[in-house]
Amino acid sequence: MPEDIKSMYEEELREEFAAMGEPSYRAAQVYQWLQSGVQSFDEMTNISKKLRQKLMDKYYISSAAIEKKLISDYDDTKKYLFSFRDGEAVESVLMSYHHGYTSCISTQVGCRMGCTFCATGKSGFSRNLTASEMIAQLQAEQKDNNIRISNVVLMGMGEPLDNFDNVMRFLNLVGSEKGMNIGMRHISLSTCGLVPKIYELADQKLQLTLSVSLHAPNDAIRSRTMPVNKRYHIEELLKACRYYIRQTNRRISFEYAMIDGVNDSDDCARELASRLRGMICHVNLIPVNTVGGTGYQKSKRERMQSFISILEKSGITATIRRTLGSDINASCGQLRRSVYRQNAAKEEQTE
Ligand code: SAH
Ligand code: SF4
Repeated sequence: MPEDIKSMYEEELREEFAAMGEPSYRAAQVYQWLQSGVQSFDEMTNISKKLRQKLMDKYYISSAAIEKKLISDYDDTKKYLFSFRDGEAVESVLMSYHHGYTSCISTQVGCRMGCTFCATGKSGFSRNLTASEMIAQLQAEQKDNNIRISNVVLMGMGEPLDNFDNVMRFLNLVGSEKGMNIGMRHISLSTCGLVPKIYELADQKLQLTLSVSLHAPNDAIRSRTMPVNKRYHIEELLKACRYYIRQTNRRISFEYAMIDGVNDSDDCARELASRLRGMICHVNLIPVNTVGGTGYQKSKRERMQSFISILEKSGITATIRRTLGSDINASCGQLRRSVYRQNAAKEEQTE
C-alpha cells in the first residue's frame, strides 16, 4: 500500500529520505512541491527521474478532484464537491471577501454526531479525512481560481475534534512557512462540543478562533437537537469553554441556529444570556437552514430581533448572519444534500 506523502511533516520526510540514502535538502524540495499542490511526482522538475520513480513506488500524492461546482449569482461564493482516490466525496466552499479568500473545508466524510437539524449528521459517517485531503481541498480551489486563500474555516462536513490528530497535523502543515503559510489567526475551528478535546485543544494554546455550536440555552432543548449533549452537558461544555478562553486569551464564538418554536423564545434568550454572562464571547445567530425531513423552520425576523436585543441588553455581543451563499448554506456542513439556492445557482459540470 503506497503511503500518504503529503500528510508528512518536513522533518518526517527528512527521516524517510535519510533512510533511502537521500540528502535532507531533497526532502525540503519535495516538501515544498507537495505543499505547493503538484499532483504528480513528474512535476517535481528539480528531482532526478530515478528518485521520482522511487517516490512513486512508495507513496501517493492525495488530491481533490472537482466533481461538481456551484457558483452563486449573488456573491461569487463557489461550492465544490470534491472526490478523493477511494471515491469518497466531500463539499467545500470558497468565499470572497474584501480581505481575501476564505475556504470552508470538510474534515470528515459524514459525521458521527447526528445533530437533528444537519444534513451531514443525517447522512451518517464514512471516514476521517487525512491532513493531506484537507490541504488538497484548498489547493484545488486555489488552482481552479488562480488565487491564494488567506483564511480557512473548519466548518464543512464533519466534526473536526472527532478527527483530532489529523486536524492538528493539517493545522501544522497549512501554517508552515514552506507550505501555505496560513497562520492560526486566520483559521477558525467549529465544534459541536467534544469536551475532552476542547481541553486538549486549549492546552495547545493555539491562536485559532474556536466556534462552539451551542444552538440551545439548556440541556432539555440541546439534547433534543444535539445528541452529543447527552454525553457532555451544557454546563460541562461551558466550563471547558471558559478554560479555553483562560488558556488562549481568545474570544469564543457561539453559533446559535434559530429554529422556529424550538429555541427562539425570549425565555431562551434570557437563559442563554445568564449562562454566558461574564464570558469573553460573541454569539452568532443564524436562521436555521431547512433540511428536508427535519420539519424545522427558520425563526421569523422579528423573533430574531427580539432575541438579539435581549442578549445585547444583557451585555452579550451578538450578530445575525445573512443567509447568502457566503454564510449559512456555505458553512454548515450540510453541503451534500444542500438546498443551496438551486434555482439561482449556475451549475458547472467539470470534467
Ligand atoms: N461539526 C462542527 C463543524 C461543522 S458544522 C460543528 O457542528 O460545529 C458547521 C456549523 O453549521 C455548525 O455550527 C452547525 O451547527 C451548523 N449547522 C449545521 N446544520 C445547520 C442548519 N441546518 N442550519 C444552520 N446551521 C447548521
Ligand atoms: Fe456533525 Fe456538526 Fe452536523 Fe452536528 S452540526 S452533525 S457535529 S457536522
